[in-house]
Amino acid sequence: NSILVIGGVAAGASFAARARRLSESARITIVERGPDVSFANCGLPYHIGGEIPNRDALAVQSAASLKALLNLDVRVRTEAVAIDRANKRVEVKNLDTGQSEFLSYDKLMLAPGASPLRPPLPGIEDSRIFTLRNLQDMDRIIAATETGMRAVVIGAGFIGLEMAEQLYRKGLSVQLVELQKQVIPPLDAPMAALVESELRHHEIGLHLGDGIARFESEANHVRCHLSSGACLDADIVVLSIGVKPDSELAKAAGLELGARGHIVVDPFQRTSDPDIYAAGDAVETIDRVIDSKTAVPMGGPANRQGRVAADHIFMPEKARPYPGSVGTGIVRAFEAVVGITGWSEKRLAAAGLPYETVSVNDSHHASYYPGARPMTLKIVWEPTSGRLLGAQVSGYEGIDKRLDVLSTAIVAQMTVEDLCHLELAYAPPFGSAKDVINLAGFAACNRRDGLVVHTSDLPSDPQVQVVDVRGKALSEAFPVPGKAINIPFLSLRASLDTLDRSRPVVTVCAFGKMSYFAARVLSQNGFDVASFSGGIKANI
Ligand code: FAD
Repeated sequence: NSILVIGGVAAGASFAARARRLSESARITIVERGPDVSFANCGLPYHIGGEIPNRDALAVQSAASLKALLNLDVRVRTEAVAIDRANKRVEVKNLDTGQSEFLSYDKLMLAPGASPLRPPLPGIEDSRIFTLRNLQDMDRIIAATETGMRAVVIGAGFIGLEMAEQLYRKGLSVQLVELQKQVIPPLDAPMAALVESELRHHEIGLHLGDGIARFESEANHVRCHLSSGACLDADIVVLSIGVKPDSELAKAAGLELGARGHIVVDPFQRTSDPDIYAAGDAVETIDRVIDSKTAVPMGGPANRQGRVAADHIFMPEKARPYPGSVGTGIVRAFEAVVGITGWSEKRLAAAGLPYETVSVNDSHHASYYPGARPMTLKIVWEPTSGRLLGAQVSGYEGIDKRLDVLSTAIVAQMTVEDLCHLELAYAPPFGSAKDVINLAGFAACNRRDGLVVHTSDLPSDPQVQVVDVRGKALSEAFPVPGKAINIPFLSLRASLDTLDRSRPVVTVCAFGKMSYFAARVLSQNGFDVASFSGGIKANI
């Protein structure tokens, strides 16, 4: 049995390792265009900033170690240039000698990944404009930071944020440009606010709602011209505006591709040719939340898909299908952490799908235990069934724990009712007797039971009475935009007659909790009332 793998990093290396564990006799060859195999791409930004000091730590395996450990024949600096499906062979070219040869296969695995986008903008060819995919890109960026002091990062997604943070850590001044009006475009805008304020606090210039129009090469710097007309001078530009699947080989071989150029695979990672498998960033997969096609260029799916393919080749009767992806991502910007799993509100709205949502705020562990830090959790669910469709969490600590629980809940098709009674680890240093996830379940059920009406917008209608139930000091320090009446919650029951019962009320507080309590008091006293979810500090 002869197995050939194109691409030797996440999906390719995982596939080959699993294949060897299932078959000692198979001939397994990996061809990899770059000089390294099985390296830690996710760690690249952290070596640039010095947080991972040792470069060798990123080279998880080498051709020699894979030979010794798994008896794999790894050929680095070797590019697959054509797939001859009729004769089941691949033409490969040694990039050092320039020589080509054919390698035959019984089964072929395509794990070529995805390349950073580099749009054909004027001036893009300047050598001071970098993208980051591999150790060589990383080395080039590090070399440029030895002399350069000004960095412009274009694209404020996960990698762009990591780069902005790490270049700042290295002592550069950093400007971050993002076409959307917020950082981390997959998030709903209010959930990105904490990270934005953390970036501003570190004097990272944010240019939101602005795109790169062209570059101009000067002797000492690159001038970045933005669509707004603004100009940013940079010694180093890092482009992190997304990736595109490396599916040219598959396309040339006549394999089926999806609408955005990803390789189409079945649940066992088989392409339209049953002897050719594919996995990782180059493939399309099933969205596990809303049954549809998606592509999730992340490390976890790549590694697990590789394993599924190997199982299907070597033990087809026992192989379990890849169930699809939820899409879970997390990123840190200095002290702030934010993550998303499943669908966001804006994505559901854009798709015209029905949803309901609440946001809750609480501490990451018992508020009386020292070191409690605030966090915000937003969930979205399907109105009829109550099934959880997505969640976003922002704060400082414990974000990964909540995100992982909620990602698991989505996969398990749990409802918001189920969230109320999840028994999560609790002792004061770790959580609360009612974890923020339970609170989100309670808030969602309150809404489903009609106990409270939430509004995510402050009213513009002057007929609506906006009642700010925070204490006077907080109300003055962070005033509600527009007109509002400050009635601290503790005085509310005694002040009902100061409000006009014939006009609607929106209650407002710092985090959305007291405004809910106030809304309950008012509605039981005959008012038509909605609570402003999220609170003033979280939304503005
Ligand atoms: P890759 O890992 O890109 O490997 C594909 C390999 O195939 C490449 O080395 C390429 O040289 C080779 N190749 C392509 N074509 C050919 C050919 N014709 N012949 C020979 N070789 C070929 N994901 C997360 O989940 N969390 C993170 O924090 C995270 N951080 C990241 C940070 C950075 C800077 C980057 C670049 C990625 C990050 N990712 C992260 C994404 C994650 O690394 C990818 O999803 C994952 O590596 C995809 O695996 P893959 O095997 O499909 O592709």
